[in-house]
Amino acid sequence: MNTIEQFNEHVMGTYGRYDLVLDSGENRTAVSEDGKEYIDFGSGIGTNSLGFCDEDWVKAICEQAHKIQHTSNYYYTKVQADFAKKLCETTGYSKMFFGNSGAEANECAIKLARKYSFDKYGKEAGRNIIITLVNSFHGRTMATLSATGQEVFHNYFFPFLPGFANVKANDIDDLKAKLSEYDGKVCAVMFEFIQGEGGVCPLTQEFVDAIFEECEKRDILTIGDEVQTGVGRTGKLLAGENFGKRPNITTLAKGLAGGVPIGVCLADEKCDKVLTAGTHGSTFGGNPISCAGGIAVLDKVTKPEFLDEVNKKADYFKSKLLEIPEIEGVDGMGLMVGARLKTKTSAEVCKACLENGLLILTAKAKLRFLPPLNISYDEIDKGMEILKKVLA
Ligand SMILES: *Cc1c(COP(=O)(O)O)cnc(C)c1O
Repeated sequence: MNTIEQFNEHVMGTYGRYDLVLDSGENRTAVSEDGKEYIDFGSGIGTNSLGFCDEDWVKAICEQAHKIQHTSNYYYTKVQADFAKKLCETTGYSKMFFGNSGAEANECAIKLARKYSFDKYGKEAGRNIIITLVNSFHGRTMATLSATGQEVFHNYFFPFLPGFANVKANDIDDLKAKLSEYDGKVCAVMFEFIQGEGGVCPLTQEFVDAIFEECEKRDILTIGDEVQTGVGRTGKLLAGENFGKRPNITTLAKGLAGGVPIGVCLADEKCDKVLTAGTHGSTFGGNPISCAGGIAVLDKVTKPEFLDEVNKKADYFKSKLLEIPEIEGVDGMGLMVGARLKTKTSAEVCKACLENGLLILTAKAKLRFLPPLNISYDEIDKGMEILKKVLA
């Protein structure tokens, strides 16, 4: 039995996987079990921010594994304290909560927002609705699925959690109408600055301004789901910086620890004391190895020169894409790029790229690119040659 057969015999078939077994990786190239090389324009969905097995990152996690790997959250560890300090200082938030995934980071944000209004307005006020956007994606747990504004995810698993309402992205009238409809009942508005799974669709500055203005007036918390857009992905440490905004709450996960599981919920002074002892937790949350990986990522990504490079590479990456005739246009910010195709489907292109040694992603009808933030120009060129060939 080969690896794929063995895997499928024992693992639930929740993913449509490609017939490819990856065995190792170096820089921005993965190597399959049968020795073929693949340039990586996907970073394992934006998680391997420093590529495969970056030397400093490997060193940080190995040292931590040799020192202490897990303690539970009954005790303190220095590596957690160091990571939290660095993350709060560089993002400007006052406190954070440790989880292990994007969905968990968002669960924390949802609980925090509801308790904020409960504490301040009482149970009877019923201020528990969270407004999210049509075409959003917030995760696969029951609460984050309920928050996700895409019908395709709302099958099978009834009943969903009450207390979520959707507004059309970039539709200020719809936002105002829903806030009036649920006047006094809304505790938070939650959104991605750039909808990732939804197709790499950025919010407009006007819409973002309206969210912040309307929420401020009504004491509604803003929640930025930066699970995909965060940690340098869009050319700034947080995508909100591109809009001149910092929500009361920001969630991070994917790229934060360079490819080991982590999820955090950051809160500002307005709401950072809402979750008190016993109200939330996670056994693995703040795992020391993940925190060590997170420090290694932040050490690099928070350097201004690093983000300057990300922006330069992003311009280069997009200009290269636009040279390909089959590509109609590009969307996104920094190294989070969506490409609209003229005639081909994103699924067929993705598969053909893979067969030719290039890993890319799709998001709806678009090709989606989330290359490692430290990808080299040479690697971009090599990947683009493959893409060009596939799209010819
Ligand atoms: C991937 C993603 C999530 C879910 O993250 P998991 O780690 O898979 O739970 C949530 N929100 C956004 C915006 C994402 O891109």
